[in-house]
Amino acid sequence: MSDLPFVRDEVRGFTPYAPGLSIDEIREKYGLARVIKLASNENPLGVSPLVVRALERTAPLAFRYPRGGNPVLTAGIADHFGLDPAGVAAGNGSDEIIDLLIRVAARPGLDNVVAFNPCFSIYVHQSRLCGVDMRQVPLAGDFSFDFEALLSVVDENTALVFVTNPDNPSGRAVPADELAALSGRLPARTILVVDEAYADFADPAKDYTLLPRLKDFPNVAVLRTFSKMYGLAGLRLGFGAMSPALADYLRRVRLPFSVNLMAEAAGLAAMQDGQFIAATRETVLRGRAGVAAALAGLGCQVCPSMANFLMFTPPLAAARVFEALLGRGIIVRPLASYGLPDRLRVSLGSDEENAAFVAAMREILGQAG
Ligand code: PMP
Repeated sequence: MSDLPFVRDEVRGFTPYAPGLSIDEIREKYGLARVIKLASNENPLGVSPLVVRALERTAPLAFRYPRGGNPVLTAGIADHFGLDPAGVAAGNGSDEIIDLLIRVAARPGLDNVVAFNPCFSIYVHQSRLCGVDMRQVPLAGDFSFDFEALLSVVDENTALVFVTNPDNPSGRAVPADELAALSGRLPARTILVVDEAYADFADPAKDYTLLPRLKDFPNVAVLRTFSKMYGLAGLRLGFGAMSPALADYLRRVRLPFSVNLMAEAAGLAAMQDGQFIAATRETVLRGRAGVAAALAGLGCQVCPSMANFLMFTPPLAAARVFEALLGRGIIVRPLASYGLPDRLRVSLGSDEENAAFVAAMREILGQAG
């Protein structure tokens, strides 16, 4: 590929996002009838029945373009989350909002973007693709956020500071008040982007989100996704909430129909299914307590989590445990690409999937019974 002389350096050196392994891949490789995927923090209960009905109703309209700017969806999101619709920008997953924020706010060759290390890789990949300097500071040894270290690399050319709360892959979270305080210490032009992809699973959720208080913090953007709690990972829907002026720029530069008709209908239906949301939350919180205790009982070091996954260090080599789980039809996430080769991340699944994971871990770690 290096034979194309016109390709930009940032493109030539680009590292694509590495998604979790797919169920079909592992089914074929190991000849297994059933594979359990606990690698991408998807919804443990699948899809809400209200969403399925909305998709069925919408399918005959798939020949039409969605309405420009998705006004109905945006109003629905604003209503559901208690936001000003003018400050909401919907995207093709929150990934698109991350990319848009970088492209709107960071000047190539001049500005920098700041985040912890490790962090969600899209912040790094899209900044580099944009020709923007990425500055990372290590998380503390226990994966807590060292905001003083973060601030030490922020300067007048820092366009964006990304903080994931709760964090991925550790699951650690800080109360929203700490992020509010951080936003007050940034240079006037810097936007604090709080990625709340997992905030629905924090306990109690209200203490960990800045969303309801966003209007008090004009230099903060909050990201939310429909891929986890709302069970729509395959349809690609997320949004950013921010000042109306910034949201307006994101909506203007976004590709016209990046949020498609089916995603729009599904998102609106998903917000209405309070029962599904409550059941998801209960399942995840129950699974989180149970799986964390079981892993600790098997000699794993488990990081306390406020998200729908657990990061842990097994007492055997993580790569071996990962392979042994695959051989038993269970996909988890190895964290070598995050620079954490001794650790694994497991998403919380249904009660049955969690039990199968714990049983497999018991076998692998030689503690049958
Ligand atoms: N932020 C974080 C921290 C995530 O873990 C993810 C999902 N992997 C995303 C954003 C992207 O979510 P979406 O599916 O909405 O693009």
